Amino acid sequence: MIKVGIPRALLYYQYYPMWKTFFEEMGAEVVVSPPTTQTMVSEGSSRVVADTCLPVKVFCGHVLSLVEKCDYIFIPAVRSVKRRVYNCSKFLGLPDMTKAVIPESPPILDIDIDVNQGKRKLYHNIYKLGRHFTWNPFKVRQAAIAAWQSFLIYQRLMSCHRLTPPQAIAKMTGEIEPKAPSLTQTTIALIGHPYLLYDEHINHRLIHRLEQADNKILTPETLTKEELQSAIARLVGRAYWTYEDEIVGAGGHYLQSGADGVIGLMTFGCGPDSLMMDIVRRASKLGTTPFMSLTLEEHTSEAGVTTRLEAFLDMIHRRKRRQVKVCA
Ligand code: SF4
Repeated sequence: MIKVGIPRALLYYQYYPMWKTFFEEMGAEVVVSPPTTQTMVSEGSSRVVADTCLPVKVFCGHVLSLVEKCDYIFIPAVRSVKRRVYNCSKFLGLPDMTKAVIPESPPILDIDIDVNQGKRKLYHNIYKLGRHFTWNPFKVRQAAIAAWQSFLIYQRLMSCHRLTPPQAIAKMTGEIEPKAPSLTQTTIALIGHPYLLYDEHINHRLIHRLEQADNKILTPETLTKEELQSAIARLVGRAYWTYEDEIVGAGGHYLQSGADGVIGLMTFGCGPDSLMMDIVRRASKLGTTPFMSLTLEEHTSEAGVTTRLEAFLDMIHRRKRRQVKVCA
């Protein structure tokens, strides 16, 4: 059976169930790289120039961990998934960059995803990808339909059942049951790219730490498209970047309702994030919900993250106690 490797990085958190279903329907076995480790970060960093953003370095580390474990590696070039809204340029050149910096990588299965080129081109690209496994176009079509259904179920698990991507993936793959919702009174919203929020190594187990401190966590995935769009329309009018949902949309929404505090995660060297997080920071100054941004890079220390987190939570708890006294 053909083995297809999928790196547990970048777009994995948004599309893994869809990709897994597609390749399994095509008769392949899917191999996912293990969770990020310091070795992966160091090896990935050694392949690219120093000012490359951390998530791309981590991605290279994951590709390296799949060398000799699969027959192909799936690396799509996702340019645009919504009309006139574009992805960061790093995603556009990901297959070519990987070929250049990791020559020992297994052959790369790539596909251009750009909805601005029309449905015909998109379907053509899907058939081209499917031809690595079969010449039967009906089989490719069936696999694509099944993959799309998986994607819709995945999205519903996150927005209706309020599961995070790792919890939704675990539920769909039957690995573990998601945890029961917290009954605590303090709610913290995390905003940022899924590959920062859910990679426990690079964010120093941020979600785990917050849950241990008895906080309920909200993330961009738990919001509906309408909630995200209305916050974006209020703050910037029209989205230009794909990630405006995760940062501007989620930040704008949670600053107005649903959270006692908002934490924005970004990485050093990320152009789009520095602009988008600044919009959220400015919006936070007009309201009363506390906001903190954390910038991650490969040298960010665990102690630095925990110190800032403790100070932020302490401030929120004191503020809540004061509000209770005023009401009493
Ligand atoms: S959006 Fe930022 S963090 Fe993500 S790949 Fe692009 S530069 Fe890197």
